[in-house]
Amino acid sequence: MTSSTYASSTVGGVAVPGVPTQLFIDGEWRDAADGATFEVVAPATEEHLATVAAASDADVDAAVQAARRQSDGGAWSRLTGAERGLLLYRLADLVERDLETIVTLEALDIGRPAYEPRLVDIPNAIDVFRHFAGWADKIEGRWVSPLPAFGRTRQAYTIREPVGVVGAITAWNAPTLIASWKLGPALAAGNTVVLKPAEDACLSTLYLASLIAEAGFPAGAVSVIPGLGETAGAALARHRGVDKVSFTGSPEVGRQIAIQAAQDFRRVTLELGGKSPQIVLEDADLASVVPGVAGGFLANQGEICAAGTRIFAHRAVFDDVVAGIADAARAVRVGDPFDEQTTMGAIINQRQLDRVLGYIKRGTEEGSRLVTGGRRPDRPGYFVEPTVFSGGGNDIAIAREEIFGPVGLVLPYDDVADAVRQANDTRYGLAAYVWTRDVSRAHELAAALKVGAVWVNGPGAPDARLPWGGTKMSGVGRELGWAGIEANTEEKTVTITL
Ligand code: NAD
Repeated sequence: MTSSTYASSTVGGVAVPGVPTQLFIDGEWRDAADGATFEVVAPATEEHLATVAAASDADVDAAVQAARRQSDGGAWSRLTGAERGLLLYRLADLVERDLETIVTLEALDIGRPAYEPRLVDIPNAIDVFRHFAGWADKIEGRWVSPLPAFGRTRQAYTIREPVGVVGAITAWNAPTLIASWKLGPALAAGNTVVLKPAEDACLSTLYLASLIAEAGFPAGAVSVIPGLGETAGAALARHRGVDKVSFTGSPEVGRQIAIQAAQDFRRVTLELGGKSPQIVLEDADLASVVPGVAGGFLANQGEICAAGTRIFAHRAVFDDVVAGIADAARAVRVGDPFDEQTTMGAIINQRQLDRVLGYIKRGTEEGSRLVTGGRRPDRPGYFVEPTVFSGGGNDIAIAREEIFGPVGLVLPYDDVADAVRQANDTRYGLAAYVWTRDVSRAHELAAALKVGAVWVNGPGAPDARLPWGGTKMSGVGRELGWAGIEANTEEKTVTITL
């Protein structure tokens, strides 16, 4: 590692892995042009974790220029698809080799239990890199027969070309996984990428940058520029040298990015927030279903875009569902991310904790019944108890707004049509969960729900092979699967008059 690495120290009794804390631009580790830095805090202990370089406009420009050079005739642009795929396979192998290091960084930086990135995020990210490595030499156009023109036969074909330079901006809740969603399809399709991770949790992405260097990607094909959203993020989103912005984060920032990009008609993919419904049908086997329903809004401290925070239970089973979910919430072990007994970690920062507690207060004020949880445990760290509300209606704040914390609301419905109506009555449309033993009902609901993904009888982490994205305020466009390749290419037509 050529960077001046963060001197390893101990936080909460855990050795902090050596990780670069500079900007990774054009294959080099460097300080910000103006020397700016920001502080990173470990949410589970409130201890200082790292001081990281904060990219300025000049640094963003340097990273974009480097990406442009690689896109416009540089070594990267001359690689074959198979060669790009080989680099992605190598990156996947390196992530696999260093899985525990990345897990430790994410548990420290996000405050999440270490088992979550160990079992879900990092294996998924490895899978994403391998999936898109496989696509890199299979991105094909089409052969089309257009109408003859002036009596002459014509033939045509299409070529899928990279969009160019992709500016990727990610959220903090699953940094390596979200970075893989941006990097995998963009690089497989031949784009270059300037990636700005979220300031709240950027260490695993900086570590990923060191693996990108080790894998042998040409310098500048991928730059990683930590920094603040309103400076580095905004500078990247408005940079004229960026052909496409791929953003994961809040609808508020996504809207600003979309407006900015529209000025120059630049491409955008926006993966935004959610208020996802979980519909528990009357026939569901509650004993086996309830743990999954609870996991749907409690995993990762509820800091998941697709968290199933609005639980609609048929009136006949409503009380049992509320009781079951409340028991599951009480069984959660909140605490040290590195304790193997821990099943829930800390909220990302004080501001977000205050926001979550504020919503809990509003829930009670607006007439919902607090069934369990709702308090901040008396210990260091930004912890909050897993919280379950019941009743109060689908139009109170905790039913309408994304909380991004471990807070679930259970509401009754009368029949399937009522469940669908309430589930769709939201500004968001990311995911929906359906719990039933009736396969016909499952298909019926899947068709009726206005969302990007429906998960029947099990929460589904997005899979590399499936399109991922939302409707309404949950976003624009899709990433992953073939949709991810389409979103990172322009289809050009070539017509030949014979
Ligand atoms: P955020 O919008 O505050 O920040 C996201 C990223 O945008 C960060 O890197 C931040 O630095 C940057 N940013 C902030 N202001 C900016 C600006 N003016 N211009 C450009 N960039 C800017 O969101 P967050 O708090 O990091 O993440 C939580 C949100 O992300 C939630 O709404 C959640 O649902 C959503 N999310 C969506 C998905 C998905 O796949 N749909 C996945 C994870 C998180």
